[in-house]
Amino acid sequence: MNVIVPPLPYAMDALEPYISRRTLAAHFGRHHVGYVDRTRRLIDGTQLESAPIQEIVQASREMDNLRLFAAAAQAWNHSFYWSSMSPLGSGEAKGLIAEHLEASFGNQSAFRQQFIAAASDHLGSGWIWLVLDSEHLKIITTNNADTPLATTLTPLLVLDVWEHAYYLDYQHRRLDYISAFMSHLVNWNFAEANLQAALNQPDRPRSRWAVAASAAAVDIPVRSARH
Ligand code: MN
Repeated sequence: MNVIVPPLPYAMDALEPYISRRTLAAHFGRHHVGYVDRTRRLIDGTQLESAPIQEIVQASREMDNLRLFAAAAQAWNHSFYWSSMSPLGSGEAKGLIAEHLEASFGNQSAFRQQFIAAASDHLGSGWIWLVLDSEHLKIITTNNADTPLATTLTPLLVLDVWEHAYYLDYQHRRLDYISAFMSHLVNWNFAEANLQAALNQPDRPRSRWAVAASAAAVDIPVRSARH
């Protein structure tokens, strides 16, 4: 099987004080690992047994296999989310991503305001994405496990707004979590790498997160998803 739990690209406490070790231990160690385990159980013995996670997300959507889609999309979305954050994150975006933000939203401040508004207006569990749609950047939201990976949009950056992403640290103050992400955690290098890859491969509008994601060590043992 090719579906595994990738290592977190930073230490469990690296995002403190904005996201605590306790939250990451539960979110990564329980929720993400759980989605990967579930995906592995559902593909065991099927034609998707050896497929990479991206293909499983797309194939399960096409086959209308909603149970598998929910598990595989959550596994992929979470990997993308970890890479969307960095202990050295935020500040002004630079380079190509900055040019695209300014062309699509006017300026970076307008982008930040729109992203925060989309995240705080989203009802219930879901994800807030910065995506490339043809040549333009857009903010979109998806419900539950849904993901732009199953569409022609190219994901560049994501924020998890499921309660499990912030409740231990922020309780009902979701706006504080969203603001902390935007002000302190956004990994613009990751968004830039995804944008560059998409523009270099216009016929394959898919994120290259697996290439961009760092393989830094995780500081607590993560149970292997292999049985
Ligand atoms: Mn989550």
